[in-house]
Formats: sequence, structure tokens, C-alpha cells
Amino acid sequence: MYLNAGKKTVSRFIFLLMFQALTHSGSAQPGYWQQRVKYVMDIDMNVSTNRYTGKQQLDYTNHSPDTLRKVFYHLFWNAFQPNSMMDKRSNSWGTNTLNGRQDWDPRVQDRIQHLTPEEIGYQKIISLKMNGVAQPFQMEETILEVSLTKPILPNTTAHFEMEYEAQVPLQVRRSGRDNPDTKVRYSMSQWYPKICEYDYEGWHATPYLNGEFYGVWGDFDVNIHIDKSYVLGGSGYLQNPQEIGYGYETMGSKVNRPAGQKLNWHFYAPNVHDFVWAADPDYKHVSKKIRENLTLHLLYKPTTSPEKNWLHILEVTEQALPFIEKTYGPYPYKQYSFILGGDGGMEYPMATLLNSASGNMHELMHSWYQGMLGTNELKYPWMDEGFTQYAAARNWGYLNKDTSTEQSFKKEYDAYYSLAKSRDIQEPLTTYADYFNTRSGYQLSSYYKGCVFMVQLGYIVGDPVLDKILLAYYQEWRFKHPNPDDFFRVAEKVSGLQLDWYDDFWIKSIKKIDYGIDSLWEVNGKTRIRLRMLGQVPMPIDVLLQFKDSSQELAYIPLYSMFGAKPEENKTIPRVVYEPWKWTSSSYEFEVNHRLTDLKLIEIDASHRMADVNRNNNKLELKW
Ligand SMILES: [Zn+2]
Repeated sequence: MYLNAGKKTVSRFIFLLMFQALTHSGSAQPGYWQQRVKYVMDIDMNVSTNRYTGKQQLDYTNHSPDTLRKVFYHLFWNAFQPNSMMDKRSNSWGTNTLNGRQDWDPRVQDRIQHLTPEEIGYQKIISLKMNGVAQPFQMEETILEVSLTKPILPNTTAHFEMEYEAQVPLQVRRSGRDNPDTKVRYSMSQWYPKICEYDYEGWHATPYLNGEFYGVWGDFDVNIHIDKSYVLGGSGYLQNPQEIGYGYETMGSKVNRPAGQKLNWHFYAPNVHDFVWAADPDYKHVSKKIRENLTLHLLYKPTTSPEKNWLHILEVTEQALPFIEKTYGPYPYKQYSFILGGDGGMEYPMATLLNSASGNMHELMHSWYQGMLGTNELKYPWMDEGFTQYAAARNWGYLNKDTSTEQSFKKEYDAYYSLAKSRDIQEPLTTYADYFNTRSGYQLSSYYKGCVFMVQLGYIVGDPVLDKILLAYYQEWRFKHPNPDDFFRVAEKVSGLQLDWYDDFWIKSIKKIDYGIDSLWEVNGKTRIRLRMLGQVPMPIDVLLQFKDSSQELAYIPLYSMFGAKPEENKTIPRVVYEPWKWTSSSYEFEVNHRLTDLKLIEIDASHRMADVNRNNNKLELKW
């Protein structure tokens, strides 16, 4: 196949792009529905036994077209018992050795196996009623199965009332007590029986194996009765700050604590899919109002990291927030809390648990991809961890004034390349989080290949278009649990390009990208350049050409499967758009309107956004 060099093709592609943008401006998500919850919870904590009793009222609205005959709840803490699925899974990972290290989560290891009866975690249901009628239920380790005496009809609300008992496990992972390093008494995540999500795929009654979460959006009204000496932080807004104090009261006002040994901390968190809290008598609490309707809270101990590092978290957040909201969409809640936990970092709505004064940017950015987009993190961990990693690295790049994408995402690309080179641990990004063969494979794939997905999408559609996609994705899918198809549809509609091939190659396969410069020669005073596709993933190609007289030119070869071209990204270098490259051809030739001896440098993707596993054949410097 031959090129048809020249600017004629540019107008054709621009026309195509505009046409596609216009024809795809229909409304999204016809027939979309989701369930809704309203929790009212009351717990009474005994800080000497580390046990509490809980009362939970749940209004569960079935917006689905289905009649529900069963419901499921998560009982996460039953995982912290010897021989649980989480214990077995961690131990089996421990038998794999990768690069001389056991492949298990260093925080879990075989620790669950050794928990004593006072150290295990549990959530035991004492009673459960629906609309006043006792319901038969069965506890199956981390899942509670309820066979309803009467079905929940479409578009009706069922009222559940539950009584339960729980024991806080010795800190293993995410939730627990008395971690020996940070010495935080209580990290209370996954602490309440939580109804499973029911969506277009049905129930997600997923056993807890250390993977992440998927929950129903709704409102959480939480009362925590706990010893007066404890300071708390968590999701939501404290409703009774004047009875609590500890820095939550209006500045300079008098705190009126009720008599008795306990305080009742009353929180309200609207429109979230989870609720976390943490408690310790030695927390220092600092708060900072950083803009109208947004206060940051910091609960920390100066013994864990230098105090100035803790306070720096607030400064960095304040500094980055305008950029963050402009790039990924507004933060809609009135508070965000950075809390020292027994384990971290882990993200929750309106809060994060950190185990030191670092890693806060990543956790903060989860407020977008975990908190507000709320993708099923077990099915599509790359859309949560990968997008979050992308946003955090980009924010640091902005704060550090890194001038190139390459600089900002170097760590992420290097990690992806190490994954691509390892034969044993790569699996497609479609792999369910708990089913990856190795922990390392899960991490490198979801965090780093997932991050590279986004940076590389900028290469494919153009960085300014990627920015529009990020905002459109937020606007269209905020509070709606998007899946990969939903993201790709937004990206296609905004860019006007076909992107299904990118999904098929990058997400659904472990194929790799490798392009190279094959040869060049002169014909009739013009230079012909031949490129080769050596990998299995097709991509559009940018080729930077530098000439002896210091001028530059960008040769752009769209991928045929895109049916369009990205807009010009860099107006300072003239661009020539060539005929698209069909992926079934392993080589491609194009002609440059210069003599061969005028050429000084040729480079495929000088921006280094395309994750080419062998860059040695991408660049040619010519000395005449
Ligand atoms: Zn994360």
C-alpha cells in the first residue's frame, strides 16, 4: 500500500470527525436504573473487649425491573478467622515465589491463621426483620443470604431492621485494631453488615478475599457510642460538634458534653456507597476550610511521621484542588478527612486511612474514580486503580511543574514495561481482581497498565480531547457505576473516533506494542521511509522529523480502524496527515518532501506516550 502524501487528506479527516461528533450527540444510558439505600445505624462500642452491638435500619429501594426473592449482605469481618477464604488465598499466594519474594500481601501473609479467639473479627447477625416480619437468614462466612418471606417488587422500598454483634479483629488488612506500628486503636472500615449491590448483572454477592468493593449509593446516618476519651474521624458530617469538641466545634465556642462515660458521635453522609470511621485517644485533629463548602480534616499522631509532613498534606491538597476540579470534575461533598489508620492507604467516601504522611494524592483521587464513578472495583480494577494512579501522577506532574508527560508518568510506564517483559504474570485487564494468578500481576496490571491506558488514550485521540473525555465521563457517569463499555462510548462520542480496537487489544488481551523504523531511501529528490509493526497491537503513529536546517515536521499516520484522525496537538510543528495504516500490513511506507541528506532525526512517538516495549528501533539519528 502506498501513501498519498499531502494535506488533502487532512480536510477529509476533519470533516469525518465533525460528522461523527454530530451524529453521536444522542442521549446516553437509555433504561439505566440503580438501587438505593438509606441506612440508620447505631452502635455501642466497648473499648475494653473491642466488641460492639449494632442496630441497623435499612430502607432498600428496588429500582430494578426485577422482583427480588433474596437479598445478600456482606459480612466482611468474618474473613479475619483462621481457614477463611481470605486466609487460604493469602497462604496460597505465599507459596508462589516471584523475584525471590513470596507473592503474598505483606500485610496479610499467614497472620489470619494465627489469630486467637479474642483477636479474630466477626459480625454475627442476631435478628433480621423486613417490614416488621422476621426473615430466615444464613451466614456463609463473609456473605449473609436472606431468603425473603415476601418478594420485593419493582419500584418498592423494603424496610429492614437488624441487630448484630461484632468483634474488631486485630489489625490485618484495612480494618482492625492495635496495629503495632501506628498504634491506632480502631480502623473501622467494612464494619457494618452491608447490602450487596444488585445491578443489570444481578446480585454481586462477592466473598471477601482482600479484594476491593462495590456498593449501593445512599444516605448513611450513623451514631457511634464510644468512650469519651476517643477522638474520631470518618465519612460524613458530624451533626453534634458542640457536644463533641475535639476541634469539631465552632472555633472559640463552648463545648457542652453530656454526662456519662461515653459520647455519641452522630455523623450523616449523603449520597455515598460506604462509610468509614477511625478512633484513637491520641489523635491530633486539625481542620482547614480550603474553599466555600469544603473543609479538610487531618487526624494524625506526630509519632508516625514528622508533624510538618502531616500538615503538608493539607497544603498540597489546597494547592492542587483547583487543578483537580478543573481536570476531573468538581468535588461535591463538604468535607474530606485524612486519617491515620492501622493500615493504609485505603480510600473511602469523604475519607482515607493512611499509615504515614505519604500516598495521600492517590487516595484523594479515589474520591473521583472509587467514590463518585464507583466502578465495580473487583470486575474492573483498572478503571479504579488505573484511573486514580493516572490522576495522582498527573497532579504531581502539575505541582512539580514537570514539562512532559514522559516525566510525569515515568514510574507507571516503567512498571508496565516490567509487566510486559515478564512471561509469567501477565493476564488481560478483564481478569476479575480476586482471580489473578499472582498479586504482582494484579497490581502491575490494574495500577500501571490501567494508568498507561489513559495516557496512551491521550496519544490516540490527542491530549486536549482526552481532557474533554475525562470531564464528559464524570458528568455522564457520576454516581452511576460505569463499566468499560460506558467509558469507551464516552471516549468515542467525544473524540469522534472508533476505539473498540483499543478495548480489544489493550484491555482484553496481553498483546504488546512494538513499532520500528525499517529503512529509508531517496527517490526523485524525496525521502521514502518504511516503518514496521513488530508487535501485535496496532496504533496510530506520530513520526517526528528533524532536518538539518533545524526545522521540524510531524508525520501522522492514523490507524485505519479509528476511521478518523486526532486533531493537531502541537501547533508549533507543522503536521502532515498520511493515509491510514491497516493493521493487517506489517509495514508502511511514506514519502517526505525533503532530500535524504536533509534529514537529521526520525523518531516514532517522540512524546513516549505510546507504550512501545522496544524503543531501541524507534529513533534514528542521521550523520552525513
Ligand atoms: Zn488505589
